[in-house]
Amino acid sequence: MTRIDHLIAGKRVAGRDYFETLNPATQEVLAEVAAGGEAEVDAAVAAAKEAFPRWAGLPAPQRARLVRRLGELITQHVPELSRTETDDTGQVIAQTGKQLVPRAADNFQYFAEMCTRVDGHTYPTDTHLNYTLFHPVGVCALISPWNVPFMTATWKVAPCLAFGNTAVLKMSELSPLTAARLGELALEAGIPPGVLNLVHGFGKDAGEPLVRHRDVRAISFTGSTATGNRIVKEAGLKKFSMELGGKSPFVIFDDADPARALDAAVFMIFSNNGERCTAGSRILVQQSIYAEFVQKFAERARRITVGDPQDERTIVGPMISAGHLAKVRGYIERGVQEGATLVCGGLDTPQLPDRVKKGHYVLPTVFADVDNRMAIAQDEIFGPVACLIPFKDEADAIRIANDIDYGLSSYVFTENIGRAHRVAAAIEAGMCFVNSQNVRDLRQPFGGTKASGTGREGGTWSYEVFLEPKNVAVSL
Ligand code: NAD
Repeated sequence: MTRIDHLIAGKRVAGRDYFETLNPATQEVLAEVAAGGEAEVDAAVAAAKEAFPRWAGLPAPQRARLVRRLGELITQHVPELSRTETDDTGQVIAQTGKQLVPRAADNFQYFAEMCTRVDGHTYPTDTHLNYTLFHPVGVCALISPWNVPFMTATWKVAPCLAFGNTAVLKMSELSPLTAARLGELALEAGIPPGVLNLVHGFGKDAGEPLVRHRDVRAISFTGSTATGNRIVKEAGLKKFSMELGGKSPFVIFDDADPARALDAAVFMIFSNNGERCTAGSRILVQQSIYAEFVQKFAERARRITVGDPQDERTIVGPMISAGHLAKVRGYIERGVQEGATLVCGGLDTPQLPDRVKKGHYVLPTVFADVDNRMAIAQDEIFGPVACLIPFKDEADAIRIANDIDYGLSSYVFTENIGRAHRVAAAIEAGMCFVNSQNVRDLRQPFGGTKASGTGREGGTWSYEVFLEPKNVAVSL
């Protein structure tokens, strides 16, 4: 049986306890994982604190070389890492192999370059020359969810390390495997022991002591809104980046390019098994094209291949856990009770290959005639469940789009350029994609507003959490 231990000061540290991580498609036990607590967190933070001055003091090009090397090692290990990620999460291999793991390597290449380009500002006056310095913050707590764990972890680790900080990374207890490899590859790349530490375990036991720790200076957290709220209360005065849940509107006007809107709508709710923070899970369609859109969208949903996530042809794999499957199924029941029309999918079990017959599967599900106030429209289901909501006109679309606690992403489809800009500006969200599915440029500010979080990461936006600006005023 594979054992996943903590990584502290460059050494494997055995757990006092272990828990099993399961393959959500087959239910086989993939590994025993160390369950950390306060003692391991203390040791990991101490190691990160000790490593900090030397790492922060390295000239940026030297740090960049090591960070870039880690990116290269990830690139060399894409097949292995993507297979492991798919086993651990149920995210399909077509996504992990071609998108998610290669993008993790890009994160290191990008931030390696960027750390050598950190610039400042000057504010000259008649009497003083003000200028800014950017210093690394110190020990950072990096906390990742289970849905796209390797990409998310590297999205944090890369800027954190490149800018001269040291880290304690805590992965979700449901998907720790690829990050454990990341720790090994970081050492292989020559990143000194203690710069990247990993403590595995559960949120309450390992996550809470980490965010409360007085030597942790910044927290970059990706996860649910409920946990984010809790962390903000627990952690005290620290720098925060909170990337939380979403229920993003996907608005299609009657003048949109119908084929493009349909493709993107299908992709944004069913890719990544619907377990995607930026999912276009509320699809708002103008009344004049609503009936036809529902029919075409459901046709596409019925044709989606549900199956073995290790099969290149599979589009939708299993839900991460039995508990999450029960949650998604519960929302499907709730939608029917609330009076939405179940157009396809639902609670039937999909036809599955033998290897994955015990998996936590749910059929791609489409609800029509959804009222935006229903629970299926307001709550983040985090599965392949689409809510199709009709709207009258532009004002109605904006009203419905904003009638939600969340504000992560949004999508607008229209050929009317003025309307595209008006609606993009009016929607309360951290990101808006016009006539496009979600595409990621590493320079753009990624993050949300309202209950979807606070702070942005990406490009110079990552300064917010991983660098501390200092103003120096020199008397002339
Ligand atoms: P979660 O909040 O349950 O857990 C996230 C992480 O926090 C895990 O590592 C968990 O162990 C840890 N944790 C739990 N309790 C903690 C505590 N008290 N203190 C410190 N750490 C604690 O979220 P999840 O179910 O793993 O992930 C799904 C959620 O993540 C969804 O809401 C999704 O929208 C969100 N998400 C957001 C983004 C984004 O960029 N905005 C990206 C991916 C996922």
